[in-house]
Parts: sequence; structure tokens; C-alpha cells
Amino acid sequence: AKETGKGRAVVYSPGDQGPPQHDISLEAAMFNAVREGEFLLYYQPIVNARSRIIEGFETLMRWKHPTLGMVPPVRFIPIAESNGLINLLGAWALKAACMQIRQFQEVAGRELYISVNISPRQFRSDRFLTVLDDALALSGLDGRQLVLEITEGTLMIDPTHAEDILARMVERHARIAIDDFGTGYSSLAYLKRFPISVLKIDRAFVKDLPSSNKDAAICNAILDLAGHLSLSVVAEGVETEEQLAWLDDQGCHYVQGYLTGKPMPANVAVTALKENLYT
Ligand code: C2E
Ligand code: CA
Ligand code: CA
Ligand code: CA
Repeated sequence: AKETGKGRAVVYSPGDQGPPQHDISLEAAMFNAVREGEFLLYYQPIVNARSRIIEGFETLMRWKHPTLGMVPPVRFIPIAESNGLINLLGAWALKAACMQIRQFQEVAGRELYISVNISPRQFRSDRFLTVLDDALALSGLDGRQLVLEITEGTLMIDPTHAEDILARMVERHARIAIDDFGTGYSSLAYLKRFPISVLKIDRAFVKDLPSSNKDAAICNAILDLAGHLSLSVVAEGVETEEQLAWLDDQGCHYVQGYLTGKPMPANVAVTALKENLYT
């Protein structure tokens, strides 16, 4: 195990000389990318499983490097999380997303919501609530139209602190979604302890539907649990009509995935919204 600042341990396999070289240059490139404005936000529709009407969008960060092309979040988010750049990027994303959803609402002529990923480090940052308030104030967005996606792990690092932060979010009427639900190590007790509104079923449980009996059982159990706790459920990674039909049949009200819309730039999302209105 190696220490990489702030006491965060990263484990490398035996014989490794350290992190791969490209990660070091990628990290250097990231600081430059912030200055050059190479980070973008894409928006993926979250739709009603029955009507396919767009209810909201999840913002997904993209890095358009001039020579490397699109660098996927799985490569740059962990680096940003370990060097702290995630606080800067996350604050920018939250503000930009809150502003953007207002334009989307004008196009749609109705209320939509925006769902924003909050990393563990961002959630634990002292500045997080200030950033949240700035984003709401700057955009004029009602907190009710904001969903913050966090993982089970984020809640478990320091549950007492998490409880406090979540209470402040509730004061602002923002909703909390558990991202990648069921893939963490936490017990279900946190569903009782924390004010959670949305469960997002991870793609791992969706991709082999409807043929996988185990995945079907897991999804049914999540839907059942959510129903009894009055939580909304969004199924992630829906790629086929069969998956959508099955989820709709089982009472899953919201879906997100390539079938109903890939992550797209804001201008493409505007077109999708216009078309979505009249179908
Ligand atoms: P996530 O939050 O679980 O996001 C869902 C991922 O699934 C996204 O990958 C999305 O593009 C992808 N996806 C959506 N529908 C489908 C589908 O039908 N099939 C398949 N195969 N994939 C689908 P992406 O955009 O590469 O993001 C990966 C992860 O990076 C995210 O997982 C999230 O953990 C993180 N991330 C992305 N943007 C941000 C951000 O702004 N802040 C933070 N903290 N994390 C972010
Ligand atoms: Ca997410
Ligand atoms: Ca997810
Ligand atoms: Ca995921």
C-alpha cells in the first residue's frame, strides 16, 4: 500500500513500481484542463418507464482532451478524488447543472429535475453546503428540483457527519438518491437512519434482465422495499425493450439507459426534449 496525500492508501499489486506512468501525466494534464475549460457536462434523460416522458436528467462529466480525445470518468474521477480536484470540478458541475436545467425547463414548458453525482470527498468537504447554496442562489433553482446522488460508501465513512449534512439538504428540499444501490457493503439500516428519497438500481442488476432469475429477484426485492419505504426507484443501464417492459411490469416507474437516451451535450438534450414533448 502507498500513501497518496491526505492519508489515502492506494493498493498496488506486488512488484508494481507505483502508479502507471500515464496516470501521472494524466494528473498533470487535469490541472491544465481545468484552466483550459476542457471539462464538459453531458446530460442523460431519466424517463417515465410507461410514457417515456423525460422527468429529469443526470449530469455526467466529460473531459475532452485536445489529443487524447474523450477521457472517461472512470479514469479521471478517481484521480480527482485523490488529489482533491474533485472539489473544484464538483462545485463547477453543480452550478452549471442547476443553471442548465432552467433552460431545459423553458424548452419543455414544465418542471424537470437535475440529478448530480456527489463524490465522497466532495460530500465531506467543509465547503460543500456553501457550494450547494451558491448553486441554488446563482441559478434560482428550487431545491425540490435537485437530486444529489451519493453512494452507500459515502454515507458509511462518517455516518454522524452524513446525518448532519443530509439534514441540511432536506432543509433545502433537495432529494437524496442512493447511486449503485445494492453494490456497496452497507447494511439496510441506513435506509432507516437517513432521509433518502430515491434508489438507483445499478446496471449490474439490470443488464441480464429479464432472463436472469437472480437479477429479477433482486430487482423485485428492491422495488418491494422501496414501495414499503415510499422511495422512488430509477433503474440504470436499460438498453433493451425487453428490460424496459419487464421493469415497467414490475412497477419500476423510472428508467435511465441507452434505450431511452445516451448521455448527450446540452444542445442535443434540448432537441431530445422538444421531440419528447410531441411523441
Ligand atoms: P454512475 O453515476 O453510476 O453513472 C452511470 C454510468 O452508466 C455513466 O457512465 C453512464 O454513461 C453509463 N450508462 C448510462 N446508461 C447506460 C447503458 O444503458 N448502458 C451502459 N453500458 N452504460 C450506461 P459514465 O458517464 O462513464 O460515468 C461513470 C461514473 O463516473 C459514474 O457512474 C459516476 O460514478 C462517475 N461520474 C460521472 N460524472 C461525475 C460527476 O460529475 N461527479 C462525480 N463525482 N462522479 C461522476
Ligand atoms: Ca450516478
Ligand atoms: Ca449509478
Ligand atoms: Ca455505476
